[in-house]
Amino acid sequence: MGRRKSKRKPAPRRKNIEPLDIQFNCPFCNHEKSCDVKMDKGRSTARITCRVCLEDFQTTINFLSEPIDVYNDWIDACETAN
Ligand SMILES: [Zn+2]
Repeated sequence: MGRRKSKRKPAPRRKNIEPLDIQFNCPFCNHEKSCDVKMDKGRSTARITCRVCLEDFQTTINFLSEPIDVYNDWIDACETAN
């Protein structure tokens, strides 16, 4: 009790340009990691495209947005459409 674990150094954050971090499963064709997110923070837009079934989705982002947010928006949009 009361003994604190020694502070670990935080793991170095992976660079944002790591391509594997922006691949998600497609809600349309159910392929794994077939969807690529392209963030365009200059225009505050992001586009996610499935390279298997070519479904795509565009949404607005802000400087805090992550690719996973774009993906979640897409999923939400799909559920709203249904
Ligand atoms: Zn797909």
